Amino acid sequence: MCGIFGYVAHKKTNAVEECLKGLQALEYRGYDSAGLAGIKQGKIHFYKRVGKVRNLKELVFEEEVALEIGIAHTRWATHGGLTEQNAHPQLDSSHSLALIHNGIIENYQEIRFNLMNLGKEFVSETDTEVISQLLAYEYTDFAFIPSLVRTLEQLEGSFAIACIHKDFPDAIFASARDCPLIIAKCKKTDDIFISSDANALSRQDMELIFLHDGEIAQISAGIITLYDKKGLIIQKAFESISLCSKSSSKEGFEHFMLKEIFDQPLSLSQVIKNRFDSHTAKVQIHECKDLGQIEHIRLIGCGTSYHAGLLVSSIFEEMLQIETSAEIASEFRYKDPILRKNSLVIAISQSGETADTLAALRLAKSKGAKTLGFGNVMHSSLFREADLFIDLKAGPEVSVCSTKAFTSQIASLLLFALYLKQTIKGVDVALDTTFFHHLESLSGIVTDVLQQKDLIRSFAEKYADYENFFFIGRNLMYPTSMEAALKLKEISYINATAYPAGELKHGPIALIDETIPTIAFLGNEKTLSKTFSNLTEIQARKGKILALSPRHFTKITTITNDVIWLQNDLPDFFSAIPYSVAAQLLAYYIAKKRGKEIDQPRNLAKAVTVE
Ligand code: GLU
Repeated sequence: MCGIFGYVAHKKTNAVEECLKGLQALEYRGYDSAGLAGIKQGKIHFYKRVGKVRNLKELVFEEEVALEIGIAHTRWATHGGLTEQNAHPQLDSSHSLALIHNGIIENYQEIRFNLMNLGKEFVSETDTEVISQLLAYEYTDFAFIPSLVRTLEQLEGSFAIACIHKDFPDAIFASARDCPLIIAKCKKTDDIFISSDANALSRQDMELIFLHDGEIAQISAGIITLYDKKGLIIQKAFESISLCSKSSSKEGFEHFMLKEIFDQPLSLSQVIKNRFDSHTAKVQIHECKDLGQIEHIRLIGCGTSYHAGLLVSSIFEEMLQIETSAEIASEFRYKDPILRKNSLVIAISQSGETADTLAALRLAKSKGAKTLGFGNVMHSSLFREADLFIDLKAGPEVSVCSTKAFTSQIASLLLFALYLKQTIKGVDVALDTTFFHHLESLSGIVTDVLQQKDLIRSFAEKYADYENFFFIGRNLMYPTSMEAALKLKEISYINATAYPAGELKHGPIALIDETIPTIAFLGNEKTLSKTFSNLTEIQARKGKILALSPRHFTKITTITNDVIWLQNDLPDFFSAIPYSVAAQLLAYYIAKKRGKEIDQPRNLAKAVTVE
C-alpha cells in the first residue's frame, strides 16, 4: 500500500522539497517508515526513518540534504518488520542503484535464494531488496532498459517501482504491473513527477500518463520515454486532467476523523445535489448510461465498502425484485462466479485503488458483466477501469478510519436503487418523491445525531475499559453493527464481534457475562420486538447493554438505562445512516479515552493496494 513519489525538475534544482511534499500527501497509504534517495555528484544518497514522514523530514533538514533528482517512499510493510533496514529505498550491495516499491513479489524467496547462492548478501527482509539485487545482477553494458525488462520478467506478483542508477544521474526509471503509478508533466514548467496517486500532485496544470501492464518509463529533464514490458518503445497520449488541490485541514477539530464525522450533513447533501428533478420525480445520474436489462446484481467491496454493499444488497432486492448479493471482493475474485452480460457488478471503493476490488472487477469484466464503480476519487483505477463510475462526492477523507465515505456510499447506492427502479418500472411520482425526501432528510437527521455528541461521549467513557464487545442487530441493522464494530476495532484495538442478534443463541451467547457488553442496534422496525427478545436473553445472563434505539421504543428502558435515542420516523431503508454516525462517535470517543492515535491507527493504511 506504500506511496511512491519521484521528481525530475526541468532545470536543475533541489528535489528534496517536492519529494517531501509529495510524500506527505501520500502518507495515508502507509506510515511504517519513510525514505528518500537521489543522486549527487554521481553518487547515490539515501535517507530513511522508521515511522512517519515527519521523522524523515527532521533527518533531511538536519543534514541539509540537496539532491538533483529524487525518489521517495512511505511504507506499509508486507515483508519484514518496521525497521530502518526494511524501509525503502532498497539498494543493491554495491550501492549503484536505489529502488522503491509498492506491491508484493510473490516469488521473492526463490529469487533471493538463487542470488544468495551467487554470493549476494541481503541486508533487509523485504521482497523489494530482491528487485534491487536482481536488477543490479542483470545490469550490463550501460543497457538499463533491457536489464530492467529481464528483471521484471522474472518477478511474479504486483508492483509499482521507481529506481535510480548512478550511471544515469539525470534519470528515474519507473514501471507498474497491477499497482497504480502515474507520470505527470507540468505544462508550465516541464517538471516531471511520479506518483502513486493523482491527489499527491498538487499543481493544477498537469498532463498525466498512467503506467499499466509492466510498461516502463525513463524520465529525465523534460523528457519521458515509454517502453512496453518487452522494452520496445511505445507512444501514449497524455491525459489532461485538472487536479483540484484538496483541503487537508482539520478545520479546528482535534482529529480528521472527528472533522469527517461532522462533515456528514454536508457530504450527504452532496450525494443528492442536482441528481433529482422534483417536478418529474426523476433521478438524474448523468454518469449512468446504457445499463440495459439487468438480471442480477453483485455488489463487491472490502472492509467498510463491503458493509455498504451488504447493507444495500437486501434493499436492492426488495426494491427492484432483482436477485442481488454482496460479496467480499478478496473472496469473490477467487471464485468462478456465474456472470453474464445482463449481470451488473457494482464495485465499491473509497480510494478507487483497493487491489482486491480491482481484481474482482477485472474478473467480472472478463466474464462479460457490466461494471459500475462507486468511488470517492476521480481518475482512480476504479474510475478508469469500470464501465461506468459514480462519484461519491464525499470530499477528501483523510482519516484512515472511513466515516463520511461510508454514509455517502449508502446514500449514493440508495439513490442509484431508485434510479434503477425508475428505469425498470417507470416513475411513480408519489412514491419516488417520498423516497427522495427521506434521502434529503438524512442531512438534518445526522445533524441531530451530532448534537448528541456529549451524551455519546459519556457512554464512551463509561464503556472504554472493556476489552471485548458484541455488536448486534437484525436485518439492515446487522451490516450496520458490522461496520460499527469495525470502527471500534480499527481505532481502539478492542475486540468487537458483530453478530446477527438472532444468531447469538446458536453459540456466542455462551460468552455473555458481565465482562462483555453488547452494543445493540434497534433501528429496524421490522425486527424490533425480536431484537428486544434477544436483548432480554443477554440481560438474563448479566450482560451489560448499550442500546441505540428509536425514540418511541421506550420499552428498552426496562432492560437498560444506557440508551442513545435516535430518529423515530425514518423507514428502515434509511436508518443505517444515523445509527452509523452515532456508532462512529462512540468509537471515536472510546479511542480518545484510551489515548490511541486516531487518524493513523497502527497497522492500517487508507488505500489497500496490496492483495
Ligand atoms: N512489499 C514491500 C514491503 O514490504 C512493499 C509493500 C507495499 O506496497 O505495501 O516493503
